[in-house]
Amino acid sequence: MTDIQTETEPLRQSGISAASERARSSDHPDCSSRNHTNMAEGVPSPSYSDCSSQNHTNMTAEELPDLLCMTQGELADFLAVLGEKSFRAKQVYDWLHVKGVRSFDGMTNLSKALRDKLGSVSRITVLRPVQVLTSQTDGTKKYLFALSDGNIIESVMMRYSYGVSVCISSQVGCRMGCRFCASTIGGRVRNLTAAEMLSQVTEIQRIQKERVSHVVVMGSGEPFDNYEELVRFLRLIGDEKGENLSLRNITVSTCGLVPEIRRFAEEGLPVTLALSLHASSQKEREILMPVAKKYELGEVLDAMRCYFSRTGRRITFEYSCVQGVNTSSADADRLKTLLRGMNCHINLIPVNPVEERSFRQPDRREVEAFKDQLEKSGINVTIRREMGRDISGACGQLRRSYLNENAAAEGAGGQTPEI
Ligand code: SAH
Repeated sequence: MTDIQTETEPLRQSGISAASERARSSDHPDCSSRNHTNMAEGVPSPSYSDCSSQNHTNMTAEELPDLLCMTQGELADFLAVLGEKSFRAKQVYDWLHVKGVRSFDGMTNLSKALRDKLGSVSRITVLRPVQVLTSQTDGTKKYLFALSDGNIIESVMMRYSYGVSVCISSQVGCRMGCRFCASTIGGRVRNLTAAEMLSQVTEIQRIQKERVSHVVVMGSGEPFDNYEELVRFLRLIGDEKGENLSLRNITVSTCGLVPEIRRFAEEGLPVTLALSLHASSQKEREILMPVAKKYELGEVLDAMRCYFSRTGRRITFEYSCVQGVNTSSADADRLKTLLRGMNCHINLIPVNPVEERSFRQPDRREVEAFKDQLEKSGINVTIRREMGRDISGACGQLRRSYLNENAAAEGAGGQTPEI
């Protein structure tokens, strides 16, 4: 890997260890319901991700409510309990989501007393870049970020003719167990908060000094296994008064959690939904994806049809092509039948070999022939350009090699696949 450019030194002294990963392996609390009734010492106990009913004076910095997760309305409620007028909420929201400030001291139109007060009862998520790799073939950049609890996540920035796209992670690790995927090898460590998802985009924007136009939730993790935080993130990033990224420029990819697909169809969020299909039959899908045993192919496709009919958004299917497994002529025929009448598009992804797995890519001609056969059936097909292959291109690979190098992967405490 000689053509890899490392922009920041890997943080070998970061204190990230197997023990610290283990210690922090619990799930992030899910607090989607609003609760403003626990007001210890005049401090609001808010409703967002890390709310709790605890007395804030006993909280560690990490347990304090995160202002970056809050909507402007929630901020107003939070500040009201501190005796602040509602215009303060607009000011704070503006600092966080328009000006991109990530410290209380940076909020210079607030009094010092209020900044100090906010600093003692709340926090702001900050991601710390620990490594940035740049592909010498296409300029793709892979970022490794350290979270405040020492966990490591990866995000990818890709430049296209239509703009800058960022692929974000939705969980630390993943518990879906897809056979060819590096992200799931150590299981799920914890869910990301909405602020941690948002900050992957805003940090890359800040470092690159350019506006991100598209976001794909296709990094490590299963977004629908972290549903509440995903939806909160989407509402925050799409907020006209804040980051204001067009939701139409966002794609969420799922392995096929049926209840969540159906629920998502009712959220009124005009994002593109991608399904990791990867097979043309129930039997074949079960070989590649344990989740297929829980939700049958037929019911997953019905849920995707429902998503289309509720949102009008064309469906994307991702199809990782694996040598000798899923790109035969019979596969193409079955897909034709399965997808008949659907307004959809198939993205073929030659499987990205992962060290710990034995799956191989079919050769290029085989993938092209598969594509041609699908197109002849009237299906819209593209072959995904492999971006950043020279920098551990596959989902979760860079994080894994970083953890291996830092001897933190062993016994990291992830939850093993449950499905
Ligand atoms: N949990 C989500 C997001 C996963 S990553 C989902 O399953 O959709 C985004 C896509 O990359 C998924 O389609 C996933 O199956 C695919 N993927 C993961 N590892 C891969 C690999 N090594 N080669 C090709 N595709 C891979």
